[in-house]
Amino acid sequence: MAVKGLYALQNGFMGFEKTGLFFGERSAEKVRIPVTCYLVRTGDTTILFDTGVSPRAVPGLLRSDPMAGFTEADLLVHRLESIGLEPKNVDLVVLSHLHYDHAGGAFLFQNSELAVQQDEYAYANYPAGFYAGLYYKKNFDLPGYRWRLLDGDAEIVPGVTALRSDGHTPGHQSLLVELPETGPVILAGDCCYWQESIDKEIPPGVVWDPTRAMHSIKRLKTVARLMGGRIFPSHDPAFWASAIKAPDAYK
Ligand SMILES: [Zn+2]
Repeated sequence: MAVKGLYALQNGFMGFEKTGLFFGERSAEKVRIPVTCYLVRTGDTTILFDTGVSPRAVPGLLRSDPMAGFTEADLLVHRLESIGLEPKNVDLVVLSHLHYDHAGGAFLFQNSELAVQQDEYAYANYPAGFYAGLYYKKNFDLPGYRWRLLDGDAEIVPGVTALRSDGHTPGHQSLLVELPETGPVILAGDCCYWQESIDKEIPPGVVWDPTRAMHSIKRLKTVARLMGGRIFPSHDPAFWASAIKAPDAYK
């Protein structure tokens, strides 16, 4: 098997309303959620899944959000540094979707290929009014960058597969990583915010189509069950506290 390791990269913390986390939730309570990225190393390819928030956005977040926490070490370039990498060493960046807390660091990768679902790319450029506030055009309007626009599931390299998981957004995708010791891991992205989203099949409160979002959660659960794998949620503080974080790796 080609996959060697999976590194969980912490990109800081934000405050988020529970109404945004879980569809149908009415509690206005805010919780502190992690912003997460992952690096996959195979024998010959280095793949990044999501890029966190843009360093440009950090001062504003720290001013406006009392729960925000972004240290120097949380900057994506420093997380990569901690495992001996620079942005130019990343061959491929797979973006789950183009919301600002996932696509904010894409500009760092002008030498890499940027893989996103073509429906996501199209929608992000012309989002509906209700969703426009989550797409910052600066993050993905990157002239001269190499985009690989995917249409549905796609094997990226042996052992690393993009799984279409739309609903949170029109072209959301997750990443299946087949690890030699840990077994299969599905990096859910915002298809599954928390473990509770998976267990109770609750779509995100921030959502484009809740029914499709629910079916995508079910689909990831089916793949995980059939393969004997695990699903890693994107913004779950309890999951994140227990995750093995870079510079250590899931092998
Ligand atoms: Zn999102």
